[in-house]
Amino acid sequence: MHGPYCCPNCKTNRTRFNIIRQMPQAVKMDPRTGEVVDVLADAEPNPLHLAYRGPEYRVQCAVCGLIEDERTFLKFGEHQ
Ligand SMILES: [Zn+2]
Repeated sequence: MHGPYCCPNCKTNRTRFNIIRQMPQAVKMDPRTGEVVDVLADAEPNPLHLAYRGPEYRVQCAVCGLIEDERTFLKFGEHQ
């Protein structure tokens, strides 16, 4: 987190947020049952399995409930 947040939806909340830390887990599933048959290690290079490259955090406005990427809240915080 770097800099102030502001919610782009309700436009007033600058103080109450839920920080949602994303913890991706690479799994291999049985295509018929959906059962997880393997959990892949992060460091394991695998040409058949793309690694997660999305944001580390999502943020929820604790006033209106909006959930967005952290940068959306940061961007709006900058302009206010
Ligand atoms: Zn809000």
